[in-house]
Amino acid sequence: MIKPELLAPAGNFETLHAAFLHGADAVFLGMGTLNLRAYSENFSVDDLPEIMRIANHHVGKVYLVLNTMPNDDQIAEVELFLQQLKESPVKPHAFIVSDPGVIRLCHQIIPEMELHLSTQTGTFNAESLKFWAEQGISRIVLPREFTLDQIAQSVSREICEIEVFVHGAMCVSVSGRCLMGAYINGRHPNHGECSQPCRFSYDIVARDGAGNLMADKGFSVEEENGMAYIFNSKDLNTIEILPQLIKAGVHSLKIEGRNKSVHYVSSVIKAYRAAIDGFFEQGESFVLPKIYIDELEQLDHRPYTTGFAGGDLAMQAVSFAKEKSKIRVVGVVKEVMANSVAVVDVKNPFTADETLSILPANAKIAPYDLEFTEINDLSGNPMVSAITNRVVCVKNAHETKLKVGDMIRRVIG
Ligand code: SF4
Repeated sequence: MIKPELLAPAGNFETLHAAFLHGADAVFLGMGTLNLRAYSENFSVDDLPEIMRIANHHVGKVYLVLNTMPNDDQIAEVELFLQQLKESPVKPHAFIVSDPGVIRLCHQIIPEMELHLSTQTGTFNAESLKFWAEQGISRIVLPREFTLDQIAQSVSREICEIEVFVHGAMCVSVSGRCLMGAYINGRHPNHGECSQPCRFSYDIVARDGAGNLMADKGFSVEEENGMAYIFNSKDLNTIEILPQLIKAGVHSLKIEGRNKSVHYVSSVIKAYRAAIDGFFEQGESFVLPKIYIDELEQLDHRPYTTGFAGGDLAMQAVSFAKEKSKIRVVGVVKEVMANSVAVVDVKNPFTADETLSILPANAKIAPYDLEFTEINDLSGNPMVSAITNRVVCVKNAHETKLKVGDMIRRVIG
């Protein structure tokens, strides 16, 4: 059995660094607007040396997402970008592509680059797998609509490496086939501009016998708090069926979310790292500690589903708005000093008498609770509470286990 790669999203340097610290084997990221997160922070070619320095430090890999479907006006931009990248002294480990024209340009300009085929292309059968392998594709990201049997079958053909999504938001449409954003507000999903109209609340509007809209004869559809999210897909969470996906032999397990916060990515990666390592160390008898299930439950998410891979074919049914995160990051450890004192960058106020949850920036350490006995300013003067945007020193009763990069959180409710 091969140990699959854990692949994390990275929307900025902070997330990139945190993803590796919390246990990612590889990250995927975008540069400029040539990927399906055109409105994200994204990186530039000039960032590449630093990106690769961080990745090499963690012995991790970097995949660059180039998966828009450019039209004639935009393809020149792709060519220019590839020429720029060709001159760069360092390069990512692979490109994630979807458009045949982009693939052709990649072969022409940087022929040595490994190519992964995005889920956007839609590889639904063995002949397609063979076709793309013949085009020089070394890995295919399967459609999210594949069942576990279809995933296992794709792997068993041994045509190329297989990657699957295991966690994160999903489209109500088949990936790469949605024009809802383009129709509703002119933002084209295949150019990375999707405004996610499938997440909007919808009503029904009546028409008269001649088909004219009766503007005053709308019907309010109520599903939740007076709203109806009729196209809103649940979020994918396969942590409970992860052993089955691993046994199917997939090469890479992908977490969605290049727009997600550094805390979200850290927390999800930590949970999946624990699930993968635990299964490989203990086999079938391994039971993932509840603390990791709770981590995923406490994050900002829509109702979870194991998706088609878990046999939940109703995952695209009417669903609800997002549940708010039950975790708030109150600080990040900047430095650890002698005498159990840590220097903390405060993100939200906290006091010394509350129990806080620590998300350790170390893939091997599970989240744990901690109470501080003292909060002081940098001159050592006691503070009643830590104040947002200040740097404070915290002390706890026993020898501190805190390390640089650890996140200090309040769990609400
Ligand atoms: S509108 Fe919704 S289903 Fe369509 S691409 Fe955007 S997120 Fe996906």
